[in-house]
Amino acid sequence: MTTSRLPALRRRLHTLAEASGCERGTALFVAARLAECQPQELLTGLGGHGVAARFDGATDGPAVVLRAELDAVAVPETLALRHASRTPGLSHKCGHDGHMAILLEVGRRLSRTRPRRGRVILLFQPAEETGAGAAAVVADPRFAALKPDWLFALHNLPGYDVGRVLVRPGAFAAGSAGMRVQLCGRAAHAAHPEQGRSPDRAMSDLITALVTLPPRDDSPDALELVTVTHARLGEPVFGISPGEAEILATLRADDDAALAALRRQAAAVARAIARRHGLHCEIGWEEMFPVAWNDVDAAALVRRAARAEGLPFARPRESAFRWSEDFGVLARLGKGALFGLGAGRRHPGLHAEDFDFNDDLLPIGASLLHRLALDALQEPAGSRRRR
Ligand SMILES: [Zn+2]
Repeated sequence: MTTSRLPALRRRLHTLAEASGCERGTALFVAARLAECQPQELLTGLGGHGVAARFDGATDGPAVVLRAELDAVAVPETLALRHASRTPGLSHKCGHDGHMAILLEVGRRLSRTRPRRGRVILLFQPAEETGAGAAAVVADPRFAALKPDWLFALHNLPGYDVGRVLVRPGAFAAGSAGMRVQLCGRAAHAAHPEQGRSPDRAMSDLITALVTLPPRDDSPDALELVTVTHARLGEPVFGISPGEAEILATLRADDDAALAALRRQAAAVARAIARRHGLHCEIGWEEMFPVAWNDVDAAALVRRAARAEGLPFARPRESAFRWSEDFGVLARLGKGALFGLGAGRRHPGLHAEDFDFNDDLLPIGASLLHRLALDALQEPAGSRRRR
């Protein structure tokens, strides 16, 4: 495949858009392309529909994992594209189609020239968008047996010059936690609300309290954010004073300990408000993402590879990106770095309806990741440790 065929590969993947955890067709397609590259090992069904291909060098050395994501997002395709998503309500508006095409191109290059030492593992991870996929892959003993020393992933980033590499050691993307609060009282006739126990005022108090939680006072510039994403009180009828309410909120922080503290604080506030209003309160947690924390040495390798590829380099403007990525779960297995690849200053934003992956990034990303893997293989083995 020449690089001029890469856009065709990316667009084919775009048509296959599938939901998180349901990436069966995409995984089959990817596994078939990888099989053509004749890796030493091809694993399928990792943590769901995950796929990994292992390319071995002639001698022992470190194990390097490069990751792409299989899943699309729940944004309908409204662009009139020839390669439009064939799945109603779903499309690759995060650019995971591009990340997969880049990784398949790295596989093609590794099949032509095997690494001299160590091993390179190309991982196509399921369910990134829900935060469930990386943990499921890590829990699979077949993946754990690969014992990665280095782990890298790129994400295309609109708002930056095409090909600009963005990385920093430490927090790269925020950790987040989805909080679901259920407030239970007692329903009554709307003419006699005093005979029941409506969670109306508690719900209102809780929304206000969550979005105005005091910031942690040790570092006022640090990222700490609560966004109420959904609220429901009873049913949409006029005759009933409601007996229950539900509030969903997303909590974010650039430090795992701070996120844990924020969760405790939010839960305590919810319980206190429920108690004050004589309500029962249930709290659940979903879509948990740890902070995507970059290892110092891994971030330095990204920077070195970018320089060698002649790509412009920048530290991100923000202290940590506010969005979350479950690469942080994988990075804990060794020395890991997640980095951004600029998709164009005016390129539509991730998850926006008018987003489509910038094909100019395909050869850039493939050369960069390929070089990064070969550079990491030159490092001493046994680099598995955590910050
Ligand atoms: Zn993404």
